[in-house]
Amino acid sequence: MGLKTEFIDIEISEEEKDLYSRQFDLGGWSQKIIKNSRVLIVGVGGVGCEVAKNLARIGVGYLDLVDLDIIERSNLSRQVLYKPGDEGRPKVKVATERLKEINPFITVKGYYTSLEHLDPAIYKAADVIIAAIDTRRSRLNLNSHCIRFKKPFVEGGVGGYHGYVCSVFPFENACSIEIPRERIVRRRIPRKRIHCVFKAYSEFEKNKELTPDPENSEHINFILNYANNLVSTYDFFPLFTDKEVKKIISRSPQLITVITMISAMISHETIKILHWLNGNKSLGKPITSQHLFNAITMQLFPIEIKRNPNCSVCGDKVNRVNVKLKKNAHCEEIIQSLINMGFERDNHMKYPILTIMDFDGMKKINLDNTPIDNKLRNLELITAVGFKGGEIFINLELE
Ligand SMILES: [Zn+2]
Repeated sequence: MGLKTEFIDIEISEEEKDLYSRQFDLGGWSQKIIKNSRVLIVGVGGVGCEVAKNLARIGVGYLDLVDLDIIERSNLSRQVLYKPGDEGRPKVKVATERLKEINPFITVKGYYTSLEHLDPAIYKAADVIIAAIDTRRSRLNLNSHCIRFKKPFVEGGVGGYHGYVCSVFPFENACSIEIPRERIVRRRIPRKRIHCVFKAYSEFEKNKELTPDPENSEHINFILNYANNLVSTYDFFPLFTDKEVKKIISRSPQLITVITMISAMISHETIKILHWLNGNKSLGKPITSQHLFNAITMQLFPIEIKRNPNCSVCGDKVNRVNVKLKKNAHCEEIIQSLINMGFERDNHMKYPILTIMDFDGMKKINLDNTPIDNKLRNLELITAVGFKGGEIFINLELE
């Protein structure tokens, strides 16, 4: 194959050669590509743990992990990097330690933070990004970074005996916001009483662009009313109480076997993408469609989801620009830069507004202050409104 020679050419210790010896014999496999790759894994829950474990054992040279959760006892039934005694510790810290033990020849960095607070340079440094998260807001956030940095990302999820895997290649196929997920766990017609709550849950996500919070009474009421309408329509009495709904939406049922299968597919697609990106087609063409998996029949259903040219994130009419700004300049200069680039102000608005995504939603930038005072980082993603032709996405380059 010739690739084996390529592998031996790079500096790899005898111990490493021993460790990966069974992979060398795979047709077309390039340990060199794997070793030189950097993958960002967002979320180290059930799926994230499995994928991280696989990629570490395979020898992906650099893994970045980000997560903001704490280990709970109920995680131990399906999150393979954690064990009894870890309860109460941040998942990302424990995962980082365990992965370093699993493979001391790779670099693992863990970030105990939200996506909003993760340094944008980490998205940019990744070759592939993996989304192992279950909230709509984090998915939207992650999608916006993957699209602007043109990073391929692999996504997967599990619900009951079903799961899905899909890969997004920015500007080539549908981005993450165009991929329907309700199909995997939510059917159009409820077959069981509990499906009424699942259906209400996905309806909430679609309408509010949010994942419902079990502690928010407005969210609970929305789901309760929607679900009970279905209960009445399809005769699944008795009606749900708010307590019941709260309990159901707090955790979706999951099983480690299904998680492992979906995670293996995510990991393998990642390895294929890494080879493919480096011009090595031996492992096959990465999937570009959504694959739904049914563990009851053990079948996979590919569904092609075409890119939407009118998408609000990756569509043809979306304005994306790079703006350079000195650290001690006023943020007002960003507006001036946009005008200099030819963007025309929309007179329906008194003055343009710049925002960044923050933990609690959108945060307005104070134009009279410097980027430092506004806590803006290099490569910050800024949204400008108040110009003709819709919002403008800005990659900020701090000088
Ligand atoms: Zn899109």
